[in-house]
Amino acid sequence: MTDGERRVALEAIAAEVRACTNCRLHETRTSAVPGEGDPETEVVFVGEGPGFNEDRQGRPFVGRAGDLLVKLLASIGWRREDVFITNVVKCRPPDNRDPQPDEIAACAPYLRRQLEVLDPAVVVTLGRYSMATFMPGARISQAHGTVRPVDPATGASSALVFAMYHPAAALRTPAIERESYADIAAVPAALIDARRRREAATQAVQPTSGPSASGETAEKTVEAFDAVDTDEPASSMSPPADDPAPQLTLF
Ligand code: URA
Ligand code: SF4
Repeated sequence: MTDGERRVALEAIAAEVRACTNCRLHETRTSAVPGEGDPETEVVFVGEGPGFNEDRQGRPFVGRAGDLLVKLLASIGWRREDVFITNVVKCRPPDNRDPQPDEIAACAPYLRRQLEVLDPAVVVTLGRYSMATFMPGARISQAHGTVRPVDPATGASSALVFAMYHPAAALRTPAIERESYADIAAVPAALIDARRRREAATQAVQPTSGPSASGETAEKTVEAFDAVDTDEPASSMSPPADDPAPQLTLF
């Protein structure tokens, strides 16, 4: 997909989200919040759901949690415009209550379609509800700062997921804020690892000769990607000597 095609596809999803009435959250929203960012990015951040400010502005992470997310990104040399930022539910739960299972299920197709278009190398989950989508069964106290392969059924066909605490939790608890800075420092290494796995998976299925249906190749790529063992905390990964510094720039 070209950059232009990605933009058009993401805008089409966003237009559907803004008009969506598929769950009760549409009744109390001011604006739906589809998400925003660079359509060509390799990294997608997924939060829980819009809060008060996001609901007012129709944009993700623009309140205090968003300010902290921007600082966390700045600590590894990234800007919010370089990544894509969205949420598990696109409309604000009243009084910032937790999203309910039927609301998450109703909204899930939008996130899945966004991931299909973006095809990220890394999905960073912010908080428990987002983590539950990409690391089912994980506990955030243990899983934060670690990576796993993403189930392609989520829409991200060959990605690693990296779990982080929600920035709002970090705002409430200084120890969690410190851990969040430590966690995000490992995201560039996870990206290097994800890039390498995607390259290895592509090379593993290069057809030697003859015509090969592209659909078949894509399927094999996913299998090859899955076959690579990744159950290793990102914090223990160190980039090999031929890589640039771990504090890499994204693009
Ligand atoms: N918290 C979230 O989970 N998402 C936002 O967009 C803002 C705050
Ligand atoms: Fe639609 Fe999602 Fe908003 Fe529910 S939260 S109304 S499913 S966009």
